This record gives sequence, structure tokens and C-alpha cells, in this order.
Amino acid sequence: MIRPAELIQRKRDGEELDAAELTELVLGYARDEVPDYQMAAFCMAVFFRGLTPAETFAFTDAMVRSGDTLDLHAALGRTVVDKHSTGGVGDKTTIAVGPIVAACGVPFGKMSGRGLGHTGGTLDKLEAIPDFRVELSEEEFVAQVKDVGLAIIGQTGDLVPADKRLYALRDVTATVDNVQLIAASIMSKKIASGADAIVLDVKVGDGAFMKTLEAARTLAETMRELGERADRRVACLLTDMDQPLGRAVGNALEIREARATLGGEGPDDFAELVLTASARLLALSDLGVDEGEGRRRAEGVVHDGSALAVYERWIRAQGGDPDDQALPKAPVVRSLESPEAGYVRALHALPIGIAALELGAGRTRKDDAIDHAVGVVCLRKRGAAVERGESLAEIHARDGSAADAAAQTVLAAYEFSTEPPEQRPIVLEVLA
Ligand code: URA
Repeated sequence: MIRPAELIQRKRDGEELDAAELTELVLGYARDEVPDYQMAAFCMAVFFRGLTPAETFAFTDAMVRSGDTLDLHAALGRTVVDKHSTGGVGDKTTIAVGPIVAACGVPFGKMSGRGLGHTGGTLDKLEAIPDFRVELSEEEFVAQVKDVGLAIIGQTGDLVPADKRLYALRDVTATVDNVQLIAASIMSKKIASGADAIVLDVKVGDGAFMKTLEAARTLAETMRELGERADRRVACLLTDMDQPLGRAVGNALEIREARATLGGEGPDDFAELVLTASARLLALSDLGVDEGEGRRRAEGVVHDGSALAVYERWIRAQGGDPDDQALPKAPVVRSLESPEAGYVRALHALPIGIAALELGAGRTRKDDAIDHAVGVVCLRKRGAAVERGESLAEIHARDGSAADAAAQTVLAAYEFSTEPPEQRPIVLEVLA
């Protein structure tokens, strides 16, 4: 039997712990045998001392073993692919990537989460579609991936209960932002939910967890190594989150933008990320294609309408109406005019996420209700030339006073210059 106090002390003093010790600690915590105060002290010791690669894997593996696991490969007899984003503003990538990959003949089965704070969650976006069901049983989930090629649902069963408890504890003990703990938390859920190949989209910038390319690279490398140790094929994209992704931020607005992108009419940065992530997933799948051929196929299914057809079949299969007209609309739409002429030097992601949150598009507490209709559409982003009085953004609000407050926050997110700023690609780096 381990003594948690001894493990805390040894980690505090910079020692490396055995896999068996870490396993007992995590499983003991999941069973309520190790109390929160000791686990919190342990996380703080890890925050300062870090975990070695072997420790990080043992910690992750114990988290996976704390609950149910799903074997999609066995259920489908195919390589199943998944993607994960570390979270950003306007990130509706999964909703466009899923239909593209499925239209190329690769099964896409994904369990997604809800948004918290300034970053949105895929499930909340999908629930903007009236009657869309995110809660399918495991049997329904597998049957739909077989039949339609695609299902995106909330977590079923009791997957990684240790992470559920630990994440809540880290959230209130200033121990979230440690690379090994973040990597273990994300990868334990990916490994337990059963995909064979995973593309990880690690966001970098003011709207993301990782503020610098260097920190994002370390997180990406740590997650890739965990995936490989668990026999998963993993590729990581490091992508820009210094400004919102695409134009739309807010649930129904983002569904419209994802659907438009599947029809070949999306904003450039978002369309580029969707095609890059899709091409990477196809290259990791059992199609036996490289990334270049994956890209050609992804572009092909957008061009010939089959990605949009899969989107419509998928939304109907989960009970929703795929028509844009079915989506809720906000009663007030206010245009925000540019106070000056010149160029947009920056459009900071974080304040745009906060404006959407304050309009009601997100939640500050786990059980808050959200307003699916509201949000912000950023018409002008970094590098755009603007005239004074030209519309920079649209605010979609429940009422006039909410629109006024959001307009101030959105305006404060803009910086202007007289010269065009240096452009930055959406995909900053690929680790494959
Ligand atoms: N997302 C997670 O799932 N876990 C973390 O620790 C951080 C982000």
C-alpha cells in the first residue's frame, strides 16, 4: 500500500516515482480513498517539479484504467479517427472535419465536450440545431458510425472518472496549467474513447491555454508521446489563436459557418484549417494515402457536394434539421463601425470570446443555460483594410442593452495601424 504523504514528499523533493505508485495513487483517488487535500498537494508538487515521460504515461494510463473504455476498432473493424482541439474562440472545426472525413470513407466517431469560460464546446454548438440529440447510447453511437460514417456525442458511460474529479480539483487549486497534467488529462480521454488515430489541434495565442509557440510545442510533443506509448497514431497541428478562428463566434452562428465551409464558402483561415486537419486524418487512416492525396480527396468532397450531403445525413440521424433556416436567430443584430481608417493590426481572441460569453453564448458555471442564437461575427480580421464607418463586426444579441455592452468589448478587441501588419498563417507548425 502506498502512503500518499510519502509520494507527495518525494515528488516535492524532485524524485521520480514508480509506475505502480502512481497507479495506486490515481486509482485510490478515483475510488475516494485518497482525499482531495492530498491529491491537491500532489498536483502542486507536480506543478513545480514536473513529471518525467515515464511518470506522465503511468499517470495517464492509470486515469484511463479508472473507468470504462471503448474499443471502436473492434466494434467497427476499421481504423477510427478522432480530432481534438485544446480549445479556442470560434473553433467549430470538428463540425466541418467530421463530414469531410466521413465523405472520404473513413469512420469518424467522437465524444465531445461542452464549453466553459470564453471557449465554446462542440456539444453546445450542435445543440443550437433544434432537436439534435447529443446523448446516444454506446450501441446507437457505434451503429450510427457504421451507417452514416459519423457520430458526435457527449461522453457515454463512466469514461476516465479520475480526470473528472481531478480536473475540478485542479481548477480550484491553481494546478491546471502544467503541461504534463494537461497532456495526461486530454490524452486519457482520447485513449479511453477508443479512436486509433488522432489529430490534435494545439491552439497558440491570447485566446488559448498555451500563449507561446514554445509552450504549445512542448504540450504537443508530450501528448504525441503519450499517444504513441498507447499505440495510437497521433499528428499535432499548432494553430493560431491570437484572433478568433473564422468569422463566427456563438453557437448557431458557428453552425452556419461550418455548413457554409462544407459547401466551399467558408472564411479562408477556417477552410484552410479544416482541410489541413482532414488531410492529416486521412493520412493516419486505413486508406493508405499520404497527406497530399488526403488533401486532394478532402477538397474533392467539398467541391462535389458529398461532404455537405454527409453533414445533412448526420444531422438528421441525430434528430436535427440540417437546414440553416431551422437555426435560432437573435432578435437584435447590431453593426459595429470602424472608428478609423487603416488596417486591422490585431483582433484579440480573448475579448471576443468574453463578449460572446457575456451575450449569453457561453457559461461561466457548469450548469448555466446558454443562448444559442447570440454571438459575434467578425467581418474584418487581422490585415484587413478598413474605412472609417465601415462595419467591423456584427453583434447578435437578445436585446439592445446586451448589444451595447458587447459592442464596447468587441471594439476594445480591435487594434488599428496605418501600415498592413505582417500576416500569420493559421497552421503555424505540424508535428507528425
Ligand atoms: N482540457 C482538458 O481536457 N484537460 C486539461 O487539463 C486542460 C484542458
